[in-house]
Parts: sequence; structure tokens; C-alpha cells
Amino acid sequence: MRTARRIATLPPYLFAELDRKLDTARAKGVDVISFGIGDPDRPTPAHIVEAATAAIRDPSNHRYPSYYGLAGFRHAIAAFYQRRFGVDLDPDTQVQPLIGSKEGIANLATAFVDPGDTVLVPDPGYPVYETGTLLAGGTVEPLPLSAEDGFLPQFDQVPAETTARSKVVWLNFPGNPTAAVCDVSLFDEAGAFAAEHDLLLAHDSAYSEITYDGYVAPSVLEAPGARDHAIEFGSLSKTYNMTGWRIGWAAGAPKAIEALGRVKTNIDSGIFNALQRAGIAALEGPQGCVAEMVAVYRRRRDVLVEALRGAGWAVPVPRGSIYLWAPAPEATTSVGLSELLLERAGVFVTPGSGYGRSGEGYVRLSLTVPDDRLEEGATRIAKVLADR
Ligand SMILES: *Cc1c(COP(=O)(O)O)cnc(C)c1O
Repeated sequence: MRTARRIATLPPYLFAELDRKLDTARAKGVDVISFGIGDPDRPTPAHIVEAATAAIRDPSNHRYPSYYGLAGFRHAIAAFYQRRFGVDLDPDTQVQPLIGSKEGIANLATAFVDPGDTVLVPDPGYPVYETGTLLAGGTVEPLPLSAEDGFLPQFDQVPAETTARSKVVWLNFPGNPTAAVCDVSLFDEAGAFAAEHDLLLAHDSAYSEITYDGYVAPSVLEAPGARDHAIEFGSLSKTYNMTGWRIGWAAGAPKAIEALGRVKTNIDSGIFNALQRAGIAALEGPQGCVAEMVAVYRRRRDVLVEALRGAGWAVPVPRGSIYLWAPAPEATTSVGLSELLLERAGVFVTPGSGYGRSGEGYVRLSLTVPDDRLEEGATRIAKVLADR
């Protein structure tokens, strides 16, 4: 048999190699504390689980769902946008439920990217913007993000020759892996850039509800200069500890929503209705669970930052996301530091180079580690740094 050439275009998966090292360490009996994966450790709030359980028992939910999602779920998403961002969306033409936002992020490329087209992706960034593009036959042009610029893209640095062949520009705030945040003026600037070059502005807002110290994340759709050119991807995964449930949405410009929906109707058959009912319960139910989780992450952030700074590691304090994006101390590479901490501390951190060339020199630590393990991990890292 012969596989398709397109899968050979996918970049080697750095994390697969690291997984092997992690397994080897564990097999040797090392009690590894992993700060590697951004996957909430706490359970889904009980009222959401209850809503899902009741919905599973209802036979009317057992048949094929609508391609375009339950009207009730689309309305709940539109109501969230109104309540949270003051943005009015037509639930019929501006909202598309997704089987997790990753699904929509990957499928967007099929709707917008022809072979030879270019997509501008944040570097470092969530890998799916790139892999979706490659699978559609497109090419990727990195938008380098650097600490000097607050990890914000510099649109005026993109060569005219590149914008001329581009179709889509991706943004992600609060960012994975950088934990960077932005204000709405960045979205207006991005909207002007997209309008000037006739691009779709795609914003991944997976962490919009996980912010700290009074910072409130904007939506790309609340920026007057952006909303007509933009699609935004939302997710219940991080906000409600629902990564395993696979449910999210896209919202924005009707043309983009229609194009994504057209691709999806030909590939999947929607989200299990019972899960959409759980999604309604999440968005319309009490929101105290979100504030509680944010408080948990904030406390963990502070514990980790204090321990690492105490050991001389000048890590920045994130105002959003569930990550610390930490510059590797002197002359250490991302992979070098990750390996050192695994070997000497039994602690796993993700090398930034796995998120793109500009991620070199950084490691990412996830805050989704139970409190006691997080404290133990921080102590172990601090000891290794002190001993160096
Ligand atoms: C976790 C994450 C997602 C969420 O994906 P789902 O498919 O909705 O679980 C999307 N984008 C980024 C940057 C993420 O970190």
C-alpha cells in the first residue's frame, strides 16, 4: 500500500520523541511530575454532568444530530457573546458548533486554503494551524512572536510578497504556548491588515475565560475593524474542564461560517445531542465554577512563579491561559532544559521549540497539575537550579 504524499508533509512530532523519554524514565521507576500537557485535572462541574446524564437517558437525543447543531446550543453561544462581549450574533448564520475547536481549526483550511496558498501562523503557536494548512496543500508562513513585542504579531513586518499569496491569518490570545494577552486594539489592527489583503482573520480564543489579575480578554468580534473579516473559535474544554467531551464552536462572519459548515456537513454528522445539552447547561448555568477554576490556576501560578524565582529563574507572570512560558536560563536550549529537568528532577516541561522556531529558548509549564504535585515539582526544579 502507498500512503498519500500529503501526510509526509506533516512535520515530525517532537512530542512523540519526548513521550518516549518520559516513558523510559517512568519505566525506570522515576516518579515523574509532568507539567507537559494542558489538560485540566479537575472534573467537569457536577451540574453539567447531571445535564448530560439526563440527556443521555432521553431517546430523542439518540438519533443523528443536526449538521448545524441544536438551535438551543447555537442560541446559548450567541447569548454568551452578547453577555460577555456585547456582541450580537445571528445564531443561524454566525455560529457553528464544533466537535471541539481543534476540529474546526483543522477543517477551516479545507474551506479556505487551496494548494499553493499561504497561511500566516503565530510562531510559536498551537500546532494545528500549521498541520491543517499542510493537509490542505497550503504552505505556512510564520508570524514570529517575541518577548520584546509582548508576543504580539508585527503585521508590518510581513513582506508584501507573502501577504499577496496569503488567505488566512491566525491569532490566539490568551496564547498557547506564550500565555500572552492582548487588548482589542490588536484585533482592530489585525482586522485592518486582513481587510487590506483580503484575508480571513481566524482567532482561537480557547482561553478567553481563564485570565488573572483583573485582565479580561476581548473577542475579535467586538473589534469594529475586525468583526466583518473574522472567525473566532471557542471551546468548552478549558473553561469548564471538558477536554474529553469534544465540544466547541466557531462564530463570526457568515461567509466563513457557511464555508466551514459546508466542509463539515460532508465530513462529520455533528455533535451528540446529549453533549450539546451539556453545552447549554455549561453556558447558561451558574458560572461560579469558572471563577473557582481560575482561582485554582492563579494560586498554582503564584506558587510556581515564587518557587522558580526564588531559585533564580526569572519567569514572567502570565495574565491569561494555563501556562507559564519561561525563558531557559543562560545558554540552555529548550530541549536541553527539558531533558535536564527530566533527568535531574524527574519533572517534565515542554520544550518551546516544539511550537515553532521562535519557541526555541523557552519551555512551557502547564498549571493543570494537582496542587500537591505542583508544589513538589516546583521544589524539585528549584533544587536542580540551585545545584547547578
Ligand atoms: C486546548 C486548546 C484548544 C482546544 O481545543 P478543543 O478541541 O476545543 O479541546 C484550542 N486551541 C488552543 C490554543 C488550545 O490550547
